[in-house]
Amino acid sequence: MTADVLILNRNFFALEVTTWQRAMSLLVLDRAIVVDDEYRTYEFADWVDLSQKIAEHPAGFVHTPNIRIAIPEVIALKFFEKVPRRQVPFTRRNIYQHYGNRCCYCNKHFPPADLNLEHILPRSRGGVSDWTNVVTACIRCNLKKGNRTPSEAHMKLVVQPSRPKWRTGAALLVRSPVPIRRSWQRFIDNVYWDAQLEE
Ligand SMILES: [Zn+2]
Repeated sequence: MTADVLILNRNFFALEVTTWQRAMSLLVLDRAIVVDDEYRTYEFADWVDLSQKIAEHPAGFVHTPNIRIAIPEVIALKFFEKVPRRQVPFTRRNIYQHYGNRCCYCNKHFPPADLNLEHILPRSRGGVSDWTNVVTACIRCNLKKGNRTPSEAHMKLVVQPSRPKWRTGAALLVRSPVPIRRSWQRFIDNVYWDAQLEE
């Protein structure tokens, strides 16, 4: 069985994707509740009861000698987990936010759709994808600079690249290596913005 389960925090923000085995143990340990398609929540015992009554379940069932348990698709943690202090994930959303939806070359503000991620030292020339080498640029500046360094292009960075300080709730931590289930979608509509970018 390869069913994966989306874990939300207490406020229903997507945290991570886990195996159904770990999801089950979080439920058994009373650390999480099941969230169904209509945002109803179930304690483990109620979920087990319900599992006996439903004929089908998208992710299937786990069978024990006496009962069967539907594998949940989404669970939510009951308690706030201690969030380890960490670096702000390198995601499109965080990069755009960090630079205030501004082009770092012409210093103007743009709607997100009119901005690109810009490698200061182009990727094709060994530029890395991290906070030190990626900024936001408007499409015009991005095209103008092309595959050159700023000095080659006679362009000046008005805003220097920098690494943002961690803010609580700054970023969704979905780094899903697995296909997105339909039942997860409502929680992770923003996955394009929040997916960890390849380094
Ligand atoms: Zn610009």
